[in-house]
Amino acid sequence: MFENLSSSLQKTFKNLRGYGKLTEKNVKDSMREVRLALLEADVNFKVARDFVKKVQETCMGEEVLGSITPGQLVVKRVQDELEALFGGAHEEFDLTGSPAAVMMMGLHGSGKTTSSGKLAMRWKKHGRRVLLVACDIRRPAAVEQLMILAGQVGCDVLGPEPGETVPQLGKRAALAAKEGKYEVVIYDTGGRFQVDEELVQELKEFEAETRPNNKVLVLDAAIGQESVNVAEAFRDAVGLTGLILTKLDGDARGGAALSVHAVTGCPILMTGSGEKMEDLEPFYPDRMASRILGMGDVVSFVEKAQGIVDQEEAMRMQEKLAKNQLDLEDFLGQIRQMKKLGSMSSLFDMMPGDALKMDAKKKEAIANASEIEMRKFESIIQSMTPHERRNPKTIDRSRRLRIAAGCGRKLADVNQLLKRFEQMGKMGKQFKKMEKRLRHMKKFT
Ligand code: GDP
Ligand code: MG
Repeated sequence: MFENLSSSLQKTFKNLRGYGKLTEKNVKDSMREVRLALLEADVNFKVARDFVKKVQETCMGEEVLGSITPGQLVVKRVQDELEALFGGAHEEFDLTGSPAAVMMMGLHGSGKTTSSGKLAMRWKKHGRRVLLVACDIRRPAAVEQLMILAGQVGCDVLGPEPGETVPQLGKRAALAAKEGKYEVVIYDTGGRFQVDEELVQELKEFEAETRPNNKVLVLDAAIGQESVNVAEAFRDAVGLTGLILTKLDGDARGGAALSVHAVTGCPILMTGSGEKMEDLEPFYPDRMASRILGMGDVVSFVEKAQGIVDQEEAMRMQEKLAKNQLDLEDFLGQIRQMKKLGSMSSLFDMMPGDALKMDAKKKEAIANASEIEMRKFESIIQSMTPHERRNPKTIDRSRRLRIAAGCGRKLADVNQLLKRFEQMGKMGKQFKKMEKRLRHMKKFT
């Protein structure tokens, strides 16, 4: 989903990169393209109109400062505005209360039952006692479906008694959840093919019996503009505290679902991206915005890198590196600069997807390993005398043993550090590559 939107936006920004200055005309032209890209992606037309208006206003009033190019500034503003469109800050379920209660609502097939199971698994993993309640009494298969999911996830489930109405079931379940000392109760309610009076009445009565602190609408992101109307109807009928967008793994355009926050004011809490119980992710407006822009968070990466890594220092290091004059003091300095830049994984996150062709798990693993290694190296270097730091070649076995004891590490760790230091020449090449990549990214925006 969102691939087309992403590629048309990127094309627009490619065109902008040639401009040395932002004029009213080139901003207007590119905003026209942005608007078209949004409409093509099925973003609600009013939302698209307001979106470009806002970006245009902020861009025109702004002076382009220092090292940031006009193109980058526009990318940043579009990113900011996308983030705002998706709700700004990340929001969580309200899991206070004993128990916290979550009422899942939505049309037939939107993914209520699946998402209920996914949430149960998530919270169970976080150590909470979860009770699932099957309230879709019109479709016997729906009750069974939830029972099976509860079995998979390993949490308790409660179903309807013969002859019980939905509100009666709600009342009984709320009581059972309290008495059973569950921490979260999830009500998987029944849907319809469309919002009708009967459904609204049933949900209202159910809500009155259970008083859930989370009223969540599950929306299939593939249903297009209709999703906005559905969300408004549910909000007006029962009130909503949040949304779950499902089926983001599909190939529909999805823009409508992304307009849902702007139209209804309800936060998007989670997204579903598959049929498996693991396929549920918290929704982060900023990450979604950069995913759609498809360039990683280019501007913030550049800003961050430029703001913290002192340029002169970098030049000095490069010179030393070229002349092979680096010592462990410099090595320590580099480690600390990397630390200032933030965690490795956050740096990876900011890189455009194509710069590092790796999946998320691999990135995470590498980032974690490098962070652990950097901390280790830092502690070892700190146990060396200034003379040793400046003259690594003088560090013989007995010194190595003393250093290891000093920082509570193993001799092998000290050996590893010194070996790594010897390989610094290679690292120098890598830094150069990284710099080239940065330059390329700047050109791209
Ligand atoms: P309900 O009628 O609202 O309870 O919907 P269900 O939970 O039964 O889901 C309907 C269908 O959509 C099922 O086949 C689910 O496996 C599927 N489904 C739910 N969420 C997702 C999702 O995020 N991605 C994909 N691809 N399928 C999903
Ligand atoms: Mg269901």
